[in-house]
Amino acid sequence: MKPIKEKACRRFRKSAKTRRVTQGKPSSGPVCRLCLQEPGDPEKLGEFLQKDNLSVHYFCLKVRESKS
Ligand SMILES: [Zn+2]
Repeated sequence: MKPIKEKACRRFRKSAKTRRVTQGKPSSGPVCRLCLQEPGDPEKLGEFLQKDNLSVHYFCLKVRESKS
């Protein structure tokens, strides 16, 4: 008879899963619908106007109006 070999060596799997949490853009707040920028400097971009879900710089709005 053949001697039964037992598997003595066990392999311990290393469950080293590194979870990477990659966050997208740090959306800090609303952006202008026209130039897609944050409120920024009101002296340069104009007052940041927010109406309902629409946010625009005052200057951006003026430029848009003058163009059309
Ligand atoms: Zn703007």
